[in-house]
Parts: sequence; C-alpha cells; structure tokens
Amino acid sequence: MRKSHLIKPVLGSEYPVISHGKGIYLYDKEGKQYIDGSSGAITCNIGHGVHEVAEAMWNQANHVSFVYRSQFTSEAAEQLAEKIAHYAPGDLNSVFFVNSGSEATETALKVAIQYFQEQGDMTKTKVISRWTSYHGITLGALSMSGHKLRRQRFAALLEDFPAAHPPYCYQCPLKETYPGCGVKCADDLESSIQAIGPDQIAAFIAEPIIGASGGAIVPPDEYFGKIREICDKYNILMIADEVMTGMGRTGKMFAMEHWDVTPDIIAIGKGMSAGYTPMAATIVSDRIMNVIEAGSKVVMSGHTFSANPQSAAVCLAVIDYMERNKLQENAEVMGQYLMNHLQRLQWKYPLIGDVRGKGLLCGIEFVKNPITREPFEITTKVTDRLLSICLDNGLLVYPAVGGVTGFSGDSILLSPPLNVTKEQIADIIDILDQSIGELT
Ligand code: PLP
Repeated sequence: MRKSHLIKPVLGSEYPVISHGKGIYLYDKEGKQYIDGSSGAITCNIGHGVHEVAEAMWNQANHVSFVYRSQFTSEAAEQLAEKIAHYAPGDLNSVFFVNSGSEATETALKVAIQYFQEQGDMTKTKVISRWTSYHGITLGALSMSGHKLRRQRFAALLEDFPAAHPPYCYQCPLKETYPGCGVKCADDLESSIQAIGPDQIAAFIAEPIIGASGGAIVPPDEYFGKIREICDKYNILMIADEVMTGMGRTGKMFAMEHWDVTPDIIAIGKGMSAGYTPMAATIVSDRIMNVIEAGSKVVMSGHTFSANPQSAAVCLAVIDYMERNKLQENAEVMGQYLMNHLQRLQWKYPLIGDVRGKGLLCGIEFVKNPITREPFEITTKVTDRLLSICLDNGLLVYPAVGGVTGFSGDSILLSPPLNVTKEQIADIIDILDQSIGELT
C-alpha cells in the first residue's frame, strides 16, 4: 500500500528537511548548511530568520489576524497600500492585495478587460504577451505565459495569448543583432497587434527582465520606451509583471525604473513579503481606477485571504527592514560585484555562453558551443545536473529552463538575499566554480 502525504514537486525524490535559517543560510535537520544563492524562488529578499518580522507577526496576531475584505479593512492593509503607492511610479496609486504572483498577474488581466468594458468596449478581451515569459501557473496567468514546458499539458484550456517575440539578444528569435536591429523585437508587438486587431486587445504584459523562463534576460535600453509608445498608439494597457523583479531585487524598487517607463498596471509578489507569508498585489493607475469608480465601482477579483492583516503587517516589517538596511542600494552594488565574478567564470568555462542581469537578479546561460551559441540537447540535462551538484556542495541556485525555444534553454538564476555581503558572494562563487568544474 502506497504511503503518501505531502505531494513533492518530483514524486519519489528525497528533499532535505530544513530546520531553520539565518541570513543567507539554511540548515537541514542533519546540520548541513546551504547558502541560499537564489533566495528560494527569488523570494527571500531580506534573508531568513529576521527577528523584526517575527515580532510584527506576533504583534498583529495578538490584535487580529484575519478580517474579510468586503466586511472590514485593517490598519496594516491600509498602511501597506499607502507604502506601495508611495514607491510606485506615476499615478499608480491603488493597490489590490492577493496571495500569489499568479493571482496578481491574473487580476491585472481582469482589471485591464474591465477597464474597457466599463467604457462600453466589450471586444477588447485579449492580452498579448511574449514567448519566453512566465506570468504564473493558474489558467489565466498560464494563458499569458510563453513558457512552453508549463503550457503543454493544459494547452486545450489555454487561450493562445503569447504572440510577440521576446527581446532575447543572446539567442535572437528574429536572427538579428543589436544595435543594428533597431530593436525589431519591439516592432514585433506592433505587427502582432495589427494581425489580431487592436479592437480585440486589452493589454500587453511583460516581465521587465525575463526570469524563470529565460535566466535574467535584460532587454535593450530602448525596448520598453518603444513598447510604451506602441501600447499608447493602439489604446492598449501596459502591464509590468514585476513579481520577480520588483521590491528592490534589481537595485530599484521596480525594474521598470531602469528605463524610466511607467506602465498602467504592475504586478508584484515574491520579495514583497520576502517569503515570510504569502502575499502579492496588483498596483493600478488612477486613469484605470477613475473609470471603474465612475462605473460599476467593483474591481471584479478577490480571494478570501486578500488584504489579510497578518500578511500586511509582515510586508510592512519587510519594507521597513529594507529601508533601514538600505537593501535596494546594496542590491545594486553587490549585483555589480557578483556580475564581475560571473564574468570571470565565463572566461574559465566555455560552456558558459552568457552572463547577464541587473542588481541581484543574475543569470547564466549554458551552451554547447560558445561561438555558435548552439544549446545543449535536452537529454544532456546540464541545468538539472548542476543544480544537484550545487545542492550537494551546499549552494542553492534556481533553474530557468524550458521557457525558451520549446524545452531547452539551459539557464540558472543567481539571486541571493539583498543583504548579501562581498565575502558571502565570494563563497557563492567558490562553490559555483567548484560545481561547474565537477559538471565538466
Ligand atoms: N510572474 C513572474 C514573473 C514569476 O516569476 C512568477 C513565479 O515565478 C509568477 C508570476 C507567479 O508567481 P507565484 O508563483 O507566486 O504564483
């Protein structure tokens, strides 16, 4: 008789049981130490075991830990919304709380469709996104995702939303070379809009830096400015999926700030609570909220746990910790330091085709041939094997595979907590160096 309890990501695999964490370190029950070189799933932005967060949880739980959003509000949720609006660019002043990044992007999709419906425009119901993208695992979010591996099993249930090519210079899907290309990948959005018909399209969604399905793919500097212009030209809302890049990860509170482009909606999650509790949010512009307020007055989304005071108190403590310890600034400086080390490894190992990223969101892409950039065959399982070697050697790195051309795209993300030090980065690099050495 089969004995099954917790369903693990890969059935039949053994997972270390973690007993506690402190700073960038995790410890399993046997006492083995792991450096959290990926902040879990690019989540634990302030490191593990921060006392102030535990204290905020305790305090809030002692007052009230749950109220339902259509019956009450709470000081914690109100303050958190104000804090996020303070950091958000332009007129993005309204915040809708959800529990995961998938819910945040899906709410963004719903808000965009609702914005047009409220104005009597009932045909604008599609969203354009890009191949090589990940916006979440629920069906609406997956529909918008161009991560082929995650889509394939549920293809029959998904809208075929992705339509545009990604700004993936290292393996350009348009076979162009930057800067001579004139950023044709941005023009590709315009071609997709014209092919589908602007009257059908509510929004365009993009990760500012492609994470889980590409390994920190940074677009050319002109890209998002052009995208903004195209969206405006066709009356299409622009959604930035900052679930991975937001909350200081790239050295700015929101990655879109790197290009000084203001979207209409931003989705955040992950680093918002730094993993201390499930929490995410959709940040919406005044322009959109004014239309909904003049119309039905109801944002048609929400979950039982939306705007949960307990989670809101945690997020406030996380942001407070980030501010006091200047973690956004540290992410920028340490990110540069990490990148310098990664470039050194690239010289050493021919299988490292590209290193890239911004702040503490760094990616490495492995290729069979660094000259032709030919990827490894899927069966080579470079990323899987490296992950396992790194884990044995006490380092967590994050896989970014399966999202690119079908099922390949061997990349990893290195994204330690934002309070990582130079000495700790040197330790991360030492283990990574040793692990890549064992792989080859
Ligand atoms: N959007 C992006 C850019 C992500 O990286 C992820 C998760 O990796 C999501 C959305 C989905 O977030 P969640 O796993 O919290 O649902």
